[in-house]
Amino acid sequence: MKNIINDANIPKKQRAAEMSRAKSIVNIIKEPVVVVDKDGSIIEANSEFYSTFQLQRNNDFEFGLKNIPLFQELNQVLENKQRGKHGITDLNISLELPNEGKKNFLINAGLLDPQGNSLDFILISFNEVDVKPVGKRNEKNDLENFHDIFSQAPAMICILRGPEHIFELANDNYFQLVGNREILGKTVREALPEIENQGFFEMLDNVYNSGETFTGSELPIKLYVGKQELKNSFLDFVYQPILDASNEVDGIFVHAVDVTEKVMARKKLEESENELRKLVDTVPAIIWITRPDGQNHYLNKNWFEYTGQIESESKDFGWLKAVHPDDEKRIRETFTKANNNQEDFTISFRLRNWEGTYRWVLDSGSPNYSAEGEYEGMIGTVVDVHEEKVKEQLIKEKEHRIRSVIKEADVATALYTGREMTIEIANDAMIELWGKDHSVVGKTLREALPELEGQPFHDLLQEVYETGETYWGKEDPVDLMIDGKLQTGYFNFTYKVLRNEKGGIYGILNMAVDVTEMVKSRELLKESESRFKQLADLLPEKVANIDAHGNFVYFNQGWLDYTGLTAEELIEKGWMNYIHPHEKEDYFKNWQDSLKSGKEFEMEFRYLNKKNKYKWHLSRAEAVKDENGKIQMWICTATEIQKIKLEEKRKEDFLKMVSHELKTPITSIKGYVQLLLSLLKKEKEGEISGKPYEMYLERVDHQINRLTRLISEMLDLSRIEKNKLDLQKETFSLNSLIAETVQDINYTNTGHNIYITGDYECDVYGDKDRIGQVLINLVTNAIKYSPLNPDIEVRINKANESKVSVSVKDAGIGIGKESQKKIFKRFYRVDGNNEETYSGFGIGLYLANEIIQRHSGSLRVKSEMGKGSVFTFTLLEALED
Ligand code: ADP
Repeated sequence: MKNIINDANIPKKQRAAEMSRAKSIVNIIKEPVVVVDKDGSIIEANSEFYSTFQLQRNNDFEFGLKNIPLFQELNQVLENKQRGKHGITDLNISLELPNEGKKNFLINAGLLDPQGNSLDFILISFNEVDVKPVGKRNEKNDLENFHDIFSQAPAMICILRGPEHIFELANDNYFQLVGNREILGKTVREALPEIENQGFFEMLDNVYNSGETFTGSELPIKLYVGKQELKNSFLDFVYQPILDASNEVDGIFVHAVDVTEKVMARKKLEESENELRKLVDTVPAIIWITRPDGQNHYLNKNWFEYTGQIESESKDFGWLKAVHPDDEKRIRETFTKANNNQEDFTISFRLRNWEGTYRWVLDSGSPNYSAEGEYEGMIGTVVDVHEEKVKEQLIKEKEHRIRSVIKEADVATALYTGREMTIEIANDAMIELWGKDHSVVGKTLREALPELEGQPFHDLLQEVYETGETYWGKEDPVDLMIDGKLQTGYFNFTYKVLRNEKGGIYGILNMAVDVTEMVKSRELLKESESRFKQLADLLPEKVANIDAHGNFVYFNQGWLDYTGLTAEELIEKGWMNYIHPHEKEDYFKNWQDSLKSGKEFEMEFRYLNKKNKYKWHLSRAEAVKDENGKIQMWICTATEIQKIKLEEKRKEDFLKMVSHELKTPITSIKGYVQLLLSLLKKEKEGEISGKPYEMYLERVDHQINRLTRLISEMLDLSRIEKNKLDLQKETFSLNSLIAETVQDINYTNTGHNIYITGDYECDVYGDKDRIGQVLINLVTNAIKYSPLNPDIEVRINKANESKVSVSVKDAGIGIGKESQKKIFKRFYRVDGNNEETYSGFGIGLYLANEIIQRHSGSLRVKSEMGKGSVFTFTLLEALED
C-alpha cells in the first residue's frame, strides 16, 4: 500500500513517462487498482478493476472517477480527506456493485511515488472484505473483540510489538504454523531462530521503520514444526504497520495464508508440464494442443522444425498457413467438427515443410479433459506419412487401373483375394462364362461355384498362392453348372498372383478364354481326319495331303506300300525324286501353276516303286478352300495306269500291225493281178500261150484267204468285246474236222509236215467252224514259230471221262515262262520276236481261248524256250444218243 504524499511540482514533460510507469505497475497487481490524477481522471486501471466493477474502459472512464456513480461516496471521501503523509489506509467502504449488490471493500490510496519526485498520480486499491478490518491499537476497548475475531480467522494472524517485534498476539493457525511453540512475549528472533537469514527480520524492520505495508506472495519459509523437523512452507502475507495515536508505527500486523499446497501443486504441475514438454519435444512426431475454442495452444518444437514456422506465425489458426490450400477447407471442417463434438478425428493432408515442399501427413486428435472432467481442447499428433501415402496412392491408382481394366476387358477376368479366394471382382464376361450372376462377387470361389469341388482348381489356386508361380491352363476341361446342368467346357486360362507394395501375395488374377468350340470342332476334325485317313488307307489309290504352301503332310498306306518308305522318309527324301526324269520338269511346271492359281492339277507320269521300277500313274490334286476361297490344303491322288498304258501301247502296236498285215497280201494280190493282166495282154497279142494262170490265181486266192481270215478275226474280236460271238452248235466228228483242217493247211503249206496221231475218235457238240478256226490258228502258229523244224504233230486223246483233248506240238522257238501267262491276252505278242519274221497281231490265241472257253473247255500251253511248244485244248465229248 502506498502512502499519499503532498503535491509536488513536477514538470509536465515527465507525465508521459509516469503514465507508462503507472501502467506497468497496475498490471502486476492482483487486486482491483486504479490510478487517477489529482482531478480524479483515470490514468490506468488493471483488468481486475474492470471485471470487479463491471466497467468498460472507454465508456465509463471518459469523465473520470467522479463521474462514475459507483464511486460517488468514495470520491467524496477522497475529496474531504486531508491528504496526509500516509494517504488513505484501510478505509472500509461499501460499494453497490451491479447485479451483486453491496460489498465491503478496504480502500487504500497513496501517491504513486512516495519520494515526491513524481507527478501526483494516486493509486487506489480495492480489497474486498467480509469482516470488519482490525482496529487500531489505541482503541483498547475493541482489543478482546479483535482477538476473538482473528483467532477464528482462516488465515494465520499475529501482532508484533515494538522494534524488537515481540509476539503480542497470535491465532491458532499461527501457532500451528510455528509448531505450537511458546512464542508470546518473545521477540521473533528468540521465538523463531530458524528464520534468521530467510529475510523476514529485515522485512519486518523495514515495515516498522518505513511505515509501509509489505505484501509477500508465495514466499518460502522454513520453520520447525517439531524439535528437529524443519518444514518448508509457502506463504502469502501482509506486514501491515500499526500506528499509535500519534500516527507513529509501534507494531506490525501479520496476516499470512499458507499456500504451500497450492505452490507445491503448481510447481509439480509446472515440473511435470516441463517434463512433458521435454518429452514431447523428443518425440519424433509433431504434437499439438488446442484450446476449447480451437485456437492453437501449444505446438512442440518438431512443428517449428518441420514447417520452418516461428512461434508467432503458428498462433491461433496461423498453423493452417502451412497446410496445402486445397486441403485447408477440409481440415478446418474436420477439426472444427471434432472440436465441437469433442470427438476423435484422423485426417491426412499436405503440409508444407521448411523447404517449401508439400508432404502428406497424418493428423490425429483426441479431446482432452481436465481432472475435473472439463473440456480443455484437443491434443494430437502429426506424422509424416508421405512415402506411405504416395505408395498407397500408387497402389490405389494401380488397383483402380486393374479394376477398370478387368471391368472393361473382353477376356473373362476375375480377381480373388486371400487364401479363401474371395471373388473381389469378376467382369461380365467371367460371370457369363461361369453361368452365374453378379451376386457371386464377395463370395468365396467355393461358395460361388460349388461344382468346382472335386475338380483340380482349388488345389491349383492354393499352389499358385503358395509358390507365386503362374499357372497356364491349356484347353483344360472345367465342369460348370450352367442353366441347371453340369456342362463341360474347355478353357485356356491363367492363375497369376497379385502382390502388394511389399511384395506379399494378396490375391490371384484369373483370366480365361472359352475354347470349347475350338476343342470340340478340332476333336470332330480329328475324328473325321482319322476317318479320312482310315478311308484313304483302305483305298488302293495313293492319296496324299499337301498344305497350302505345297508341303506334303500326309501320305496314305497306298503310298507307303508302293514306295516301301515311311511317311517321314517320303517327306524327308522328297517324293518328287521318285518321278521319272522325263516327266519331272513338266510336273514341276504344272504343279507350280496350280499352287499359284489354285487350279486343279492333272498329269500322267511315272513313279519309281520299291522294286525300282517306274509305273505310270494318273496324278490329280484338288485344292480344298475355305468359305473365302482361301486354299486350306490340297488332296492328291495317284492312280496306277500302267496296265491301261500298256494296253494303249498294244493297241497302237496292233494298228501298226494291222496296217502292215493288210498291206502285205494286198500288195501281193496287186502284183499277181498285174502279172496276170500283162500275161493276158501278151496272149491276146499272140506273143505267148499256155501261161500258168492257174498258179497265179491260186496265189491270189491264198492271199485273199489270208485277208479274209484277218478280217474275220478282227470281226470276231469286236464281237467278243461286244459279247456278240454267236455259236452255231451241232454234233460233229472231231477226228474228221482235224483231218480236213490239216489237209487244207497242207494244201497251202508245203514246207512243214503235219502228223495226226492218236487213235481216239469222238464226236463233240459245238460250233464246227469256230473249233476249226482254233485248230487252224494253233497249227499255223506252230508253222510260223518253228521255221527250222518242219514236224508238227496234231494229237487227239481222251482227256477224262467226259472230255477229249487235242494237242498241237511243234519244235519251234518256244515261249518263255512269263510270256506263257500273257499270250492268251489280246494284242499280246512275245517281246523280242522279230515282227518281220513272225507277222501277226496277237489276237489269234485270244480268240482261240475265248472260243474254247465258250465250249466249256480249256486251252493250255507247255513250252520251253528253243525247244518248242505244245498247245492243248479240251472239249466236252458229245453225249451219245
Ligand atoms: P500272232 O498273230 O502274233 O501269232 P497269236 O495270238 O496267235 O498272235 O500268238 C500270240 C503270240 O504267241 C505270238 O506272237 C507268239 O509270240 C506266241 N506264239 C504263239 N504260238 C506259238 C508257237 N507255237 N511257238 C512259239 N510262239 C508262239
